[in-house]
This record gives sequence, C-alpha cells and structure tokens, in this order.
Amino acid sequence: MTETQAKTCIYPGCERPAVPPHPMGGPQPSFCDLEEHNVLTAHQERQRLANESSHGAPEGER
Ligand SMILES: [Zn+2]
Repeated sequence: MTETQAKTCIYPGCERPAVPPHPMGGPQPSFCDLEEHNVLTAHQERQRLANESSHGAPEGER
C-alpha cells in the first residue's frame, strides 16, 4: 500500500492540509504552508496548551 492520502498539518489546532511532497522526492512535510507552523512552533504550542490545561485556565480560542 502506498501513502497517497493527503496529510494534515500536525500543528495543534491546525486543520490545513500539509504541503505536498516535493516532486523530486523526499518525505512529505507534516505541516501546512504557514511559515509559523513547523516542528519548533508546534512543540511550543503543545507546551503552551499543556501548561494552560494543567492550570485549568478557561482560556479558549479567541
Ligand atoms: Zn498548519
């Protein structure tokens, strides 16, 4: 089986499709085309969300 299904950005809360794999080959990125969505910012966002939830802050999406 080949993975031809479109990936979705793994950034927390982001449901944009991940950028397509490079035509020259290589793995498909796990993030969408937003510059601020990358491994580092996703990690920071997860930490922030975990921190918020652990404090029970009622803050949601603005
Ligand atoms: Zn994204």
